[in-house]
Amino acid sequence: MTDHVQGEGVPPGADLRGWLDHLAGTDRLSVTRTGLGLRHEVAAVANRLDGTSASLFPHPDGHPGSVVSGLLSQRSWMAEALGVDEGSLVRTFEEACLSPVPWAEVADAPVQEVVHDDVDLEQILPIPTHNEHDSGSYITAGLLISRQRSTGAQNVSIHRLQVSGPDRLGALLLPRHTLRFFEERENDDEDLDIAVVVGVDPLTLMSSQAIVPLGQDELEISGALRGAPLRVTRCLTNDVRVPADAEIVIEGRLVANRREPEGPFGEFPQYYGERAERHVIEVDRVTHRRDPVFHTIVGGGLEHLLLGGIPREASFLSHLRRSFPCVRDVHLSLGGVSRYHLYVQVDSPQPGEAKNVILGALATHYDIKHVTVVDTDVDLHDPREVEWAVATRFQADSDLVVVEGSQGSKLDPSTQAGVGAKLGFDATVPVGSPDMKFLRIRVPGEAEVDLDAVVDRSTGDWRNSVATR
Ligand code: MN
Repeated sequence: MTDHVQGEGVPPGADLRGWLDHLAGTDRLSVTRTGLGLRHEVAAVANRLDGTSASLFPHPDGHPGSVVSGLLSQRSWMAEALGVDEGSLVRTFEEACLSPVPWAEVADAPVQEVVHDDVDLEQILPIPTHNEHDSGSYITAGLLISRQRSTGAQNVSIHRLQVSGPDRLGALLLPRHTLRFFEERENDDEDLDIAVVVGVDPLTLMSSQAIVPLGQDELEISGALRGAPLRVTRCLTNDVRVPADAEIVIEGRLVANRREPEGPFGEFPQYYGERAERHVIEVDRVTHRRDPVFHTIVGGGLEHLLLGGIPREASFLSHLRRSFPCVRDVHLSLGGVSRYHLYVQVDSPQPGEAKNVILGALATHYDIKHVTVVDTDVDLHDPREVEWAVATRFQADSDLVVVEGSQGSKLDPSTQAGVGAKLGFDATVPVGSPDMKFLRIRVPGEAEVDLDAVVDRSTGDWRNSVATR
């Protein structure tokens, strides 16, 4: 047993194998029989169990390794992993982003227990194929860690990685930090050293999705969330530092001046990302723990939606609060694939301010497409409540904001190559409305009544109860 002993105050999500123990101990880990199929069968079972339990697949297709999915497929599980209640989840994450804790380097790393110099990815690792029209097997929960040569700064992000050959991956790089580091190297016709880390603890997994400035190493957010430096180790073939207690590390390079076909691949909006010429990773070495556990995220599942959604909520909340003191909370709804639909809760906005909030929210990220602003008497984590506010507090001729031809998500098939419209609903009560007009009905005592004290569960016959004695 090489796992960390969890000390006092260490959140349950600080260690992957410990988190699996935690899930198993609370009946939230389904272990399948040995040898299920990597092609579609793993994803089929993971999807059926999505949100109910994580799923562990011992030795799929007789492979030496095993697969796990659905580690964080409820909002409440994420809070649990962080050791906080659900209401504090977003704020806890945002505070960690603002107070990073530098990692600590160690020489003796469990992730380097087994070393493969001769790389055949599908021989070494159990890599599933998920959706019907996916081009093949994909690494979907790999943290791509890159290092800027000039500054030594690291960046962490998750990219879909197609297995294109025994030692080759195809990568989709969106225009963010990894791409910036790569273009700096490619300008000099040089490759960018990277590592792809699979099977990390839940805190590091969440940290990888933080929206923080270029140059801030997302691994330091994991340190803040665990209240102690994350243990990292140097890769064997390059200078990238990787989580020492991870399950698997794929060391390699993003190759300069080379592009190859990648896709199609089933993405978070529940559609396929198209096949196109994309970046290429050459793999130099693979290291892993003994009996490695390969984490896979099935596209469009709750784990996929929430992993992107919660860190975005944290970033959008702090961004909006800087401009609008009336903003209390934000939520990216699951129906809006945790990316496109943002609900914003405001407290007593000034006349017209809800519309400014809409404009500000639409500008925080190109993925945000529809914004709904509600008052504090609306539970913005309940889509039915938000719809109620739109149904009863919104008029299309005065409360609607539409912006044409702006940058949206390329994965939204209703856009023209990523360009589309934005929309905002101001579903707040108009300032100066008469007191009773928008007052929500309420039965006094409803929330407080003790049902066990008032309901007589011993009586078997309602007729006896109503009979005159
Ligand atoms: Mn970054």
